[in-house]
Amino acid sequence: ELPGPAKPQTTIFTVMSALAQRHGAVNLGQGFPDESGPAHVVEAAVAAMREGRNQYPPMPGVLELRQAIAAHQRDWYGLEPGVEDGVVVTAGASEAIAAAMLAFVRPGDEVVAMEPFYDSYKASVELAGGAIVPWPLEAPEFRPDLDRLAALVNDRTRLLLVNSPHNPTGTVLDRAELEGIARIAVERDLLVVTDEVYEHLVFGGRSHEPIAALPGMWDRTVTIGSAGKTFSVTGWKIGWATGPAALVDRVKGVKQYLSFASGTPFQYGIAAALGSGRDYYEAYLASYAERRDLLAQGLAGLGFTVYEPEGTYFITASAAPLGYGDGMAFCLELPERCGVVAIPNQVFYADPAAPRPEVRFTFCKPRAVLEEGLERLRKGL
Ligand code: PMP
Ligand code: GLN
Repeated sequence: ELPGPAKPQTTIFTVMSALAQRHGAVNLGQGFPDESGPAHVVEAAVAAMREGRNQYPPMPGVLELRQAIAAHQRDWYGLEPGVEDGVVVTAGASEAIAAAMLAFVRPGDEVVAMEPFYDSYKASVELAGGAIVPWPLEAPEFRPDLDRLAALVNDRTRLLLVNSPHNPTGTVLDRAELEGIARIAVERDLLVVTDEVYEHLVFGGRSHEPIAALPGMWDRTVTIGSAGKTFSVTGWKIGWATGPAALVDRVKGVKQYLSFASGTPFQYGIAAALGSGRDYYEAYLASYAERRDLLAQGLAGLGFTVYEPEGTYFITASAAPLGYGDGMAFCLELPERCGVVAIPNQVFYADPAAPRPEVRFTFCKPRAVLEEGLERLRKGL
């Protein structure tokens, strides 16, 4: 018997991507694009390597990248994190989330998070000795209920963990919802950690609004971003946290002992990427909007109840109309039966064992792959 807590289960992404490989399935599960990001971004990382930038970067990240992240927050949202003390580069958003939880959550504290939630939230809160308190987004709208949030907050509540655009439902918080969350955070004197890794994937002519930009929020908010989604380089694992010096300092204090620093040449690549013109971001969004429509219409045509996402590159759909009340059973059967992989939403709940009919498909794949996936579902279901 080894010391320490019981070995945690393997994450659903590993399980499902292994099934995809074994069955030669179209992988609409784990969210990673098939393409390799824009050529100028890849070239900038390769150039950095050739120029010999292959040793440890400064712990908070290379200056050029911190400058680019600060400029991005200013140009898009009017936020002004300090290049020296308000930005820390992390090993993906994942490390930023873990470092923030380890920095702010003490044993016995509660963290309220929109449920369903990305799987690393609960694990990170629990690593810090805290407990995650689910704030449910319920089908079919998956909108947050602010009265319910107010009722969940108590003396043990340490922080609110917000995610918009939201994985896996695709909900994008609107102005009134953000204001409601902000009001509760201010009234109850809570910190907010906000995961905005899908900030450039908001559809329907709306635009992303960071909660840190709302009145009274800057000083209590840590904003987390990632290059993986926006520049189609999920394997580079470059993310960041921005905010007021006092909070970012605490995140840095933990992060220095987790990874110390990560991927110098990739950091130069992302510094170049963030300098892309608005036309890059527009083309990126347009290409995803098209694929979202393709997959949403295809799934609806097959009989799924489709919850159209306002953001992210995921669609949550219910398999109940196809006779499946248990999305996990459905997803475990799907690779062999149809040659397609999806993710059961139940893994994103506080009780991951409770069956739910919703499953998540990603559309971060070329049109031909999405069409092939739909065709396989049509034949096999
Ligand atoms: N947060 C959310 C909501 C995500 O979907 C992901 C990636 N799937 C992450 C964080 C982790 O991002 P990274 O790969 O940059 O660690
Ligand atoms: N963020 C990706 C998703 O939600 C997966 C990340 C991972 O594999 N841990 O699909």
